Amino acid sequence: MTIYNLGSINIDHVYRLAALPQAGETIHSQSYGQGLGGKGANQSVAAARAGAQVHHLGAMGTGDDWVLDRLRDAGVDTGGIARLADEATGHAIILVEQGAENSIVLHPGANGALPADRIAAGLRGIGPGDILLMQNETSLQAETAARAKAAGARVIYSAAPFEIEALRAVLPHISILAVNEGEARQTFAAFGEDLPVEGLLITRGADGAEYRDLLSGKTTLQPAFKVEAVDTTGAGDCFAGWFAAGLARGEDVATALRHASAAAALQVTRKGAGDAMPDRAEVLDFLNARNS
Ligand code: ATP
Repeated sequence: MTIYNLGSINIDHVYRLAALPQAGETIHSQSYGQGLGGKGANQSVAAARAGAQVHHLGAMGTGDDWVLDRLRDAGVDTGGIARLADEATGHAIILVEQGAENSIVLHPGANGALPADRIAAGLRGIGPGDILLMQNETSLQAETAARAKAAGARVIYSAAPFEIEALRAVLPHISILAVNEGEARQTFAAFGEDLPVEGLLITRGADGAEYRDLLSGKTTLQPAFKVEAVDTTGAGDCFAGWFAAGLARGEDVATALRHASAAAALQVTRKGAGDAMPDRAEVLDFLNARNS
């Protein structure tokens, strides 16, 4: 079964600085790094490395071909990514002050200007058993979710970055809502706990995760694995991508949660987001080592 991912594609530009610049100030950076980011691209890479067949639906500018190479290297089908001549590839300027706060400027660019005809065409093959993954970093969320649901697919939505109105628009069309602890709190405050979805995935960082099956009332808990975390950026995307891949391959919820938790534990021991997603062999080795 296939995962279609309506997802953002960002280039992360990371500058390390002695101090964040004040208004009107020009400063030199101490180092610069560039990486693949965006919650959409991260989840596509995670699900593909988990062994799922993944079609990414999205858009980017006309340059930056390395981004497509990076996605393809991970096993993602990039045929559904439109190239827009008049939009920049989405990007984040990330200023990291040593030992302190970050400041981030996010430019959605092509992520906010997805061509409706290309996305509809990319979704044409979706059907029962397939999954549409989505996050709140692109345009066309509600209409794409409605189309996937009408075709009989399940829709898994990460409500991040959290926006009440964006969630309200997609809520009637989604099957599983994926949130972290803070997003869960905001969701319950706005909509109550009796949500109109079949399942709720809540991740709680080093405190683990839970899946609430709202149809049966059963909750499955998954503790986090104990590891030395060095960079937790993208942990939620790793978990969501792996969980979706587990469901797509027909795993039961407990197995999908366990694999997702192991994958996210490995991911937080590495620097980076999309580039740090582990593959299936690494996750199975990790689990075998923990069992022995
Ligand atoms: P992000 O926004 O950084 O992608 P998130 O807030 O969406 O993260 P979290 O709830 O922080 O997501 O983490 C997702 C999952 O990753 C957790 O449920 C857990 O399985 C794993 N994880 C996160 N932090 C750790 C950690 N320090 N040790 C082990 N596992 C972790």
